[in-house]
Amino acid sequence: MRYATSPKPKIAIVGGGFSGAAVAARLLRSTKYDVEMIESRPRVGPGLAYGDAQPYHILNVPAGRMSFWTERPRHFLEWAKRNGPELGWPEAAMAEAHSYLPRELYGFYVAEQLERTDREVSEYHGRRLLHRRATAMTLDHDRDVFRLALDNGESVRAEAVIIATGHGRPTRSWQVTGRGAAYVEYPWSKEATAHLNSVAPVLIIGTGLTMVDTVLRLKREGHCGHITAISRHGLMPRRRGDSEACVLELGVREASFGVRCLFEAAREAISRNRGDWQAVVDGLRPISEHLWSALSLTEKRRWLRHVQPIWNVHRHRMPEESAETIAALIAEDRLEVSACFVEEIEMSGMEARVRLRPRGTTRSRTHTFGRVINCTPGRSDLASMGSPLLADMEKKGLARANALRCGLDCDESGALLDALGRRLSGAFALGPMRRGLLFEASAVPDICCQADDLAQVVAAFLSSDDRQPKERDVHAIGLAR
Ligand SMILES: Cc1cc2nc3c(=O)[nH]c(=O)nc-3n(C[C@H](O)[C@H](O)[C@H](O)COP(=O)(O)OP(=O)(O)OC[C@H]3O[C@@H](n4cnc5c(N)ncnc54)[C@H](O)[C@@H]3O)c2cc1C
Repeated sequence: MRYATSPKPKIAIVGGGFSGAAVAARLLRSTKYDVEMIESRPRVGPGLAYGDAQPYHILNVPAGRMSFWTERPRHFLEWAKRNGPELGWPEAAMAEAHSYLPRELYGFYVAEQLERTDREVSEYHGRRLLHRRATAMTLDHDRDVFRLALDNGESVRAEAVIIATGHGRPTRSWQVTGRGAAYVEYPWSKEATAHLNSVAPVLIIGTGLTMVDTVLRLKREGHCGHITAISRHGLMPRRRGDSEACVLELGVREASFGVRCLFEAAREAISRNRGDWQAVVDGLRPISEHLWSALSLTEKRRWLRHVQPIWNVHRHRMPEESAETIAALIAEDRLEVSACFVEEIEMSGMEARVRLRPRGTTRSRTHTFGRVINCTPGRSDLASMGSPLLADMEKKGLARANALRCGLDCDESGALLDALGRRLSGAFALGPMRRGLLFEASAVPDICCQADDLAQVVAAFLSSDDRQPKERDVHAIGLAR
């Protein structure tokens, strides 16, 4: 991959994680334009989920459903069988469609797909993928031309821009005061476990799959002190079973269709399936977008507030091996999971004093930990995501939060809506940034479908009659290089 500049880039993608890589590869294959990708990481493709994983972190979707290419569902599986052993995973040679393979291996796969596509199209068609190692800070739009200003002082000019900036920073509703290294905001960083006394008590904020990964990492790295994991509801992911998804025929039958109706229908389906809730949860997946789009805004808010935490622990389940380890740690009283709120964290040298309030009580107590690791999900509210680019776009009216305040507002094709709700011609969003409009916007199979459609939408947009290059206009507003 080159680090050059193109005299006239057409498509700019902000974010080089899985979403950016998926749409870039499709655009390179199906359009005649160069693609410029802005990403501060040295390697594009794996992103947060697959770039920061340890060898023992396992995918939570089976290999048979993790292909980079929608039209070749077994592509990842076949690649892993061929390349896994050479890359240090001999067991991958025996993988089957239902096997759960390492996330790190998947990161190699994604990076290779993008690099290979880039090589092929540049050799045979002269199109290129240009990686700019930088962070996009601001976006301007004038007469069909976008200009992204980067943190290294450069700028990128494009006629279509795709925002694929992924997950926001972890959620934080508490104050952190004092100085020291005992509080870690990013669970995948080296600092999360660096210089940790092996018997020091650890607090993990968040009880989802990131907590599970962090507990496994602490154990692997020799930590044997007590771990407390807390969240609003104190719910942990369920253990993954062998159930096959059942076929559900939940129709949107009534005008009053809502969360309550859904709950009742799901309960009926579980009892029809002799209590097999996993089959029902998985059976909901093919129809979840349809059901989500049928809910009113009020009902969607009810779902997010009251049902989402319960849904998450049933939908995003723990691999068998991880579940065994977690259960053993709980049984040995080395891991405790509870429903608590963090009120304040005060760092002092190698320790952090944390004021915690158990759910359902008004009295808080202060506890001391050797490390506090924030494993809460990424923020989705634009205002608190900590992205200068998104804040700038919102300030200039080029983008707005969606009605649920959990991502960018866009239409069904992924086109961004501006502050007044009008299509911002040529600007699109992809991946977790489409949460809210879509029920499932983050898993690989969902992102691949979004990327397939978006590549076509962008290609059609750039080749449409009213999208001929307007050099005169460009010079007039001083954006041409
Ligand atoms: C830990 C974890 C494990 C997962 N496991 C699975 C799994 O097993 N199976 C599955 O189907 N799904 C899984 N997912 C979900 C899914 O695959 C990810 O959500 C997906 O990888 C999202 O990719 P992304 O590119 O949208 O976001 P990210 O991976 O977050 O990438 C976004 C990129 O944008 C860059 N960026 C952000 N802002 C800017 C800016 N202003 N300028 C330039 N660059 C910017 C960031 O540096 C980052 O690299 C997992 C998610 C996580 C977090």
